Amino acid sequence: ALTLGIVGLPNVGKSTLFNALTRNDALAANYPFATIEPNVGVVPLPDPRLDVLARISGSEKVLPATVSFVDIAGIVKGASEGEGLGNKFLANIREADAICQVVRVFADPDVVHVDGRVDPASDIETIATELVLADLQTLERAVPRLEKEVKGKKADPAVLAAAQAAVAVLERGTALSHAAPGDDVDLDLLRDLTLLTTKPFVYVFNTDEAGLADTARRAELEALVAPAGCVFLDAAVESELVELDPEDAAELLASTGQEESGLDQLARVGFEVLGLQTYLTTGPKESRAWTIRRGWTAPQAAGVIHTDFQRGFIKAEVVSYDDLVDAGSHAEAKARGRVRIEGKDYVMADGDVVEFRFNV
Ligand code: GDP
Repeated sequence: ALTLGIVGLPNVGKSTLFNALTRNDALAANYPFATIEPNVGVVPLPDPRLDVLARISGSEKVLPATVSFVDIAGIVKGASEGEGLGNKFLANIREADAICQVVRVFADPDVVHVDGRVDPASDIETIATELVLADLQTLERAVPRLEKEVKGKKADPAVLAAAQAAVAVLERGTALSHAAPGDDVDLDLLRDLTLLTTKPFVYVFNTDEAGLADTARRAELEALVAPAGCVFLDAAVESELVELDPEDAAELLASTGQEESGLDQLARVGFEVLGLQTYLTTGPKESRAWTIRRGWTAPQAAGVIHTDFQRGFIKAEVVSYDDLVDAGSHAEAKARGRVRIEGKDYVMADGDVVEFRFNV
């Protein structure tokens, strides 16, 4: 499942947001370093299509796709050197598919800012620098090891060359995800090092109500981080939303001018930056959403359910969600010729409702 690691300076609202997203009661205290243990929360991704499918198939239950959030402690200037909360915490980001930086935009004089003032551009720069330094440290350890291994013919010289090229990029202060083609950094060769600046970034601007309504300011912040994805939310509102029933929550959300909850926004943008999509299965037992990468073929998609499904793949019976709903039943969709038989080269589309046929 999609895993987002939440990073940011202390006191920007990470715990508040994490708790809102995962309905966790852990205390969000008003002082730096309140978050000292990493926390993982697995959140079901609301998908209204599943309820519709469950009605059509008479499913006993629905199983939505999930997003995992890893709450990582605040990173301060010098974190990469082991000052404040250091390396041990950066290690927790390595597991994440994408990094989600919470940036404080709300101006609340009662909440202390580590640098004494609210300045999103400077906060973003601070975190970016710490991640670049953390990767440089990783490479400073890896390069001598690789040199030895290449001499002993135990490592591919191309990996060493890629590591050296990566050092050059990082020394310019550039994230590896922003390396130019001429930099010759083959990130695939460096995958084992789980370098942090290779990960896609999503920015969460934690704004108050006035900030949410300020479209000019929002455009400025969006431009600041472009082309990375970003979302705007109010962590304080998010924590109220989870206390409410769906109707009241929708009303509160609308009153702040927001169309989607923070979770929905983050899941949507996270799926976009990572190139993910879902397909669906449905039957009397369950209706379920499965997360795959865009461009995956039917056998690859089947492999998410079970590796045997991929290995023994014969064919897939596919109907688009819209066609199935139009028809009202699988039998009717079939009668209308809407259920297609697809082979191993079929590239999955978002919202495909699938039944796989396979040999065991
Ligand atoms: P963390 O250190 O980044 O995890 O920050 P916390 O989530 O612990 O938040 C620090 C303080 O800021 C707490 O007192 C929160 O109640 C407050 N806070 C968090 N988000 C918001 C927000 O959107 N608006 C306001 N006014 N306060 C917030």
